[in-house]
Amino acid sequence: MTDNAIEKSPLTLLGLGAMGTALARTWLAAGHPLTVWNRSPGRAEPLAAEGAAVAGTVAGAVAASRLVVVCLLDDASVDEALTGVDLTGKDLVDLTTSTPGQARARAVWARERGARFLDGGIMAVPPMIGAPGSGAYVFYSGSRALFDAHHDLLAVPAGTSYVGEDAGFAALHDVALLSAMNGMFAGVSHAFALIRKENIEPTVFAPLLADWLVAMTSSVHATAAQLADGDYTRGVVSNLAMQIAGNATLLRTAEEQEVSAELLAPYLALMERLLAGGRGTESTTGVVDLLAR
Ligand code: NDP
Repeated sequence: MTDNAIEKSPLTLLGLGAMGTALARTWLAAGHPLTVWNRSPGRAEPLAAEGAAVAGTVAGAVAASRLVVVCLLDDASVDEALTGVDLTGKDLVDLTTSTPGQARARAVWARERGARFLDGGIMAVPPMIGAPGSGAYVFYSGSRALFDAHHDLLAVPAGTSYVGEDAGFAALHDVALLSAMNGMFAGVSHAFALIRKENIEPTVFAPLLADWLVAMTSSVHATAAQLADGDYTRGVVSNLAMQIAGNATLLRTAEEQEVSAELLAPYLALMERLLAGGRGTESTTGVVDLLAR
């Protein structure tokens, strides 16, 4: 296929919320014939003015293109929108946020209806979509053949990262990254709470905090290396016993600053459990194993 042919390949998009609208605009701007559908028709009007074909029904929108991208609120809304619609021969790309289990079930559901299926997890907020250098990308998993066939079109709004044939893997990668982000946000909240009542400008403190967090991210690779070879003492620079001695200072400081330790305490308790198991010379990597149920 020539570049010209790729640029002109058509697609359908179901869902014109904040994310769907951002995606639609990038495909229209790149010259792709785009058919759109949204439950509330009013949201399609601005896109019609920009060149999109507006379908009045989901069935009509799906019939318009082989490639059908779905970006609805949640998996239940995908079910509601697509139930009873003929998907035979379609390439269905579901960018709706889901759990790994929901994505795997949706892949089976799509196959049973004669469609190839690719799930996506969007690692961006709408203003990052189609913005050069924003770092936006989408995890994809499921049909490799579908991904390869439509890669150039899928790469228009954001970068692509294909993580495997297992349709659940995109959601799993997405949620794992978001979960780690929430842990970081929890730590950031605690840190700001500690300085809150003092004569310390949050805006002066912020770059110190941000730089420290960036410096600490190298620990992610050390943890991965230890998980990979099973030796949790390899390359340890701050062992668990030493860190736990320091935890008393963290808790005491929270008390002195009249700050609740409720965000900090669960992680420190897991470290204590490792120590009680005689693992004081290891890193904190064992916490990963403690979390497995
Ligand atoms: P919005 O809330 O802006 O839009 C939701 C969309 O889903 C609308 O088009 C809405 O239609 C439609 N919808 C909701 N319920 C149904 C239903 N039962 N049947 C048919 N359509 C339905 O959400 P976003 O566009 O921001 O998000 C879309 C997806 O993208 C979500 O899964 C979200 O997690 C994901 N995402 C969003 C990000 C963001 O920052 N916004 C970041 C990363 C991922 P209507 O207009 O009629 O209400």
